[in-house]
Amino acid sequence: MRLKKAEREQLRRKYDGHCAYCGVELVGNKWHEDHLDPIIRQVDKPTERPENHRLDNMMPACAPCNRSKGRQELEGWRKWLAGHVNSLNEYHGIYRMAKAYGLVVETAAPVVFFFERCEAARV
Ligand SMILES: [Zn+2]
Repeated sequence: MRLKKAEREQLRRKYDGHCAYCGVELVGNKWHEDHLDPIIRQVDKPTERPENHRLDNMMPACAPCNRSKGRQELEGWRKWLAGHVNSLNEYHGIYRMAKAYGLVVETAAPVVFFFERCEAARV
């Protein structure tokens, strides 16, 4: 299931060396190969949706984005990320304090992934 070295390099260059999701520059070789439409690997069970292991379904991702996305479909992950602000307000007093003092400003901006901005710029 591993990509060949040339395929991995092709994937790294897909968004000019940036994480397809947050846009951070991918430095070194510690970035992850994410499946946009996920595959589900399970211990002691066959992999679900192995047909999704194709280079055209793969995205270069930084480790935090790959871990955060996990098995989620893109739209599910987008909703989950958008809900982070609610969680911060609900559970984190330090966030509410930072907001009260104007150190943090909520924008209500939609979650737009880096690859979507790249594709919009190509039009
Ligand atoms: Zn990222």
